[in-house]
Amino acid sequence: MVVEQILELWETRGDSQYGQEAVTQREHALQTAMLARQADASAELVTAALLHDVGHLLHKLPEDAPDQGIDDRHETIGARWLQQHFPPEVWQPVVLHVPAKRYLCAVDQSYLHHLSQPSVQSLQLQGGPMSPEEIAAFQKNPYAEAAVQLRRWDDDAKIVGLETPRIEDFRPELEASRMDLRQDDSV
Ligand code: FE
Repeated sequence: MVVEQILELWETRGDSQYGQEAVTQREHALQTAMLARQADASAELVTAALLHDVGHLLHKLPEDAPDQGIDDRHETIGARWLQQHFPPEVWQPVVLHVPAKRYLCAVDQSYLHHLSQPSVQSLQLQGGPMSPEEIAAFQKNPYAEAAVQLRRWDDDAKIVGLETPRIEDFRPELEASRMDLRQDDSV
């Protein structure tokens, strides 16, 4: 059921622009998920990659919210929604993909130069690079590594005209990571 809901959401809202970037939300999601697949990530992390920005499709704020000085908190909106259907291996990297950007900006000098202009702009609204205390706390999070991986795919998934699989081609990963189908969740 949730998989049908996800396909429908992308069908109806996926054509919206990915903020001020030159690709659509759908293109961006598919490129991120494709990079996760190419890196042999788990089904859960491929699902997280595909759905990391689903919050953008769920909120009603304009695409240019950052231009108006608004942090849309899409990572929290998305993770809350995903939490109802998927395990922490999916929603934790999603909620952490914005902190992961703030983390990378603080620990990796070359990273900031690699960011697109809209991403630099939203960084300020998201709190800027992490402080040393925030870095230490982030590193202790068991999902930090997955979130950093996701973040790097996210940043590379903005290529105009790149050919990718379709949303429905990711059905195997979506099905495999659904909470209600996982054996290891039962007590
Ligand atoms: Fe993204």
